[in-house]
Amino acid sequence: MKKIAVYPGSFDPITNGHIDIITRGLRMFDELIILIAYNPNKSSLFTVEERMDMIRQVVIKDEKILRVDCSSGLLVDYVQNKGANVILRGLRAVSEFEYEFQMALINRRLNRDIETVFLMTGFQWFYTSSNLIKEAASLGGSVTGLVPDIVFERLRGKFNKVTK
Ligand code: ADP
Repeated sequence: MKKIAVYPGSFDPITNGHIDIITRGLRMFDELIILIAYNPNKSSLFTVEERMDMIRQVVIKDEKILRVDCSSGLLVDYVQNKGANVILRGLRAVSEFEYEFQMALINRRLNRDIETVFLMTGFQWFYTSSNLIKEAASLGGSVTGLVPDIVFERLRGKFNKVTK
């Protein structure tokens, strides 16, 4: 049986920290679906389409093993409908643990066939988060090396004072 995992998040935008989790996740699973899990009532910097487009350009080389999709529905239903049984998440700080623990438990309560698997952040991506990157970029800070070049250019398009 194929091991298929879903890696959900907002990816607003995708960062090198996410890419590290994706690369390592691909070593563990036969297929990985990067899922933009969005809430239509929540605002974001990039539209869902823009986020999917950046992910496609940056990481999708072989659609048979790595795909990108979006959903605003119940995560466990999405996972089951795709024939997957793992939710992949990254963990950075201890402060994330409590929230992630609750999410993993509620998702298991909702569907006992689905497990959440956590990967510890790569050491150099410990402080990389989409939110901090957006904040720094909006104030003209350099985020080079924290996001792929395509994302850097898109951030520059949103906040035209981003410096290199
Ligand atoms: P954020 O806005 O916090 O960067 P997302 O909602 O897009 O994150 O995150 C999706 C998943 O990727 C979450 O499991 C999150 O913990 C993980 N993640 C985000 N950034 C990193 C990173 N730098 N290292 C490891 N995991 C990360």
